[in-house]
Amino acid sequence: MDARLEKVFETVKTRDFSQGVFHQAVREVFESLEPVLAKHPEYIDQSILARIVEPERQIIFRVPWADDKGEIHVNRGYRIEFNSALGPYKGGLRFHPSVNVGVIKFLGFEQIFKNALTGQGIGGGKGGSDFDPKGKSDLEVMRFCQSFMTELYRHIGPNTDVPAGDIGVGGREIGYLFGQYKRLTGRYDAGVLTGKGLDWGGSLARTEATGYGTVIFAQRMLEQHNDSIEGKTVLVSGSGNVAIYAAERVAQLGGKALSISDSSGSVYDPNGIDIELLKQIKEVERGRVSDYAQRRGNGAEFRAGQKVWDIKADIALPCATQNEIDENDAKALVANGVKLVAEGANMPSTPEAIEVYESNGVLYAPGKASNAGGVATSALEMQQNSARQQWTFDDVKGRLDDIMTNIHNTCLEAADKYGKPGDYVLGANAAGFVQVADAMIAQGIS
Ligand code: NDP
Repeated sequence: MDARLEKVFETVKTRDFSQGVFHQAVREVFESLEPVLAKHPEYIDQSILARIVEPERQIIFRVPWADDKGEIHVNRGYRIEFNSALGPYKGGLRFHPSVNVGVIKFLGFEQIFKNALTGQGIGGGKGGSDFDPKGKSDLEVMRFCQSFMTELYRHIGPNTDVPAGDIGVGGREIGYLFGQYKRLTGRYDAGVLTGKGLDWGGSLARTEATGYGTVIFAQRMLEQHNDSIEGKTVLVSGSGNVAIYAAERVAQLGGKALSISDSSGSVYDPNGIDIELLKQIKEVERGRVSDYAQRRGNGAEFRAGQKVWDIKADIALPCATQNEIDENDAKALVANGVKLVAEGANMPSTPEAIEVYESNGVLYAPGKASNAGGVATSALEMQQNSARQQWTFDDVKGRLDDIMTNIHNTCLEAADKYGKPGDYVLGANAAGFVQVADAMIAQGIS
């Protein structure tokens, strides 16, 4: 890394010494920036690097709630308002026991560049809690969400900061959060949250957007090589919102998704994932992938405690969580014939895994480019809320296709411009960074 970048990175490591995943996200961006700084000395003169790694605001709060037996629990809530150079802070809320300030900061940092790539005038933010919705009753989840929003509401708004879902936060949670925001403010600010229900301000195709967008991005990558998804076998990890709709879009394009997973293990389904069964088990019954294997039969096998990366396939779409593909997993992917990795999750590949892709000629799309369809469609939801309109499914999906194609092309153009044709990591980081940096300079030292 360039000495000027290294100096800022050292400060990040010293100041935020316990935030390993945040360091990882910063390093990944910084490693792309050397050719950008060579063309833009003003970013050094204006201390853009030191400014961009420091969130504009970090909000940490107590979230007390009572369970169904009356026992009181205390969780910790976070909202990191990272960068507003391009628009109101925008990014999801994650409810998972592994959440801490470093996790939310890594996600918020990624979000800055991802949101820039969408071209939709949205800044970067992220939030969440170490609350685990798994195994909780609907009423417990509601009480938690109401308590969380009772603190958060004062910091957000349709032109200030607009949260959405992420791991552990889906339509149910967004509903409870929105209801409490409305009670506290006395306003129907539909644009304060995205991922809402279709009858009360949500957008058609938002549920599908992240998974579909990831597959569209992979399709555009393949088209560069006169190839397509049709006839390809695909490994999908996770079994939540992103995974379900990635698997669905793969099937629609003539490919076959062979796997799903959760934190207890994975399923290998040689005949292709049955999407309707998966939706029934995960979205309606809130069940596990082991339930899927049992009900599916037909050769589907549950593999307790195992990841999906040892299965033979053409394409891998990691859609679960950060660092779910390590160096050995990446070597297994290469050995089993995988030629393309497009990330549905945020930062699912470790730096060592990315090196394995690069040294073996695997086409690789980082999440901040390939999974941007979710936040892009959230911005479309905000547009519909402002205009008091609801666009058709095909209209939103068409716009999503165009946005993903644009992001893909922007990455390739930036990779060309900065000297590494075909490198999606450099392309995504450089294109996103330049937009944000230019806006920060124009807006003065802040
Ligand atoms: P969901 O909560 O709907 O699903 C998450 C899935 O990943 C579940 O199957 C879950 O299994 C699994 N998972 C989560 N943590 C772990 C873990 N530590 N080990 C193993 N499996 C795990 O979340 P989403 O589908 O919304 O999000 C998935 C990824 O996509 C995340 O990285 C998120 O940041 C990213 N993303 C999501 C967007 C969205 O629009 N939803 C937008 C852009 C990115 P289990 O139930 O056992 O925990």
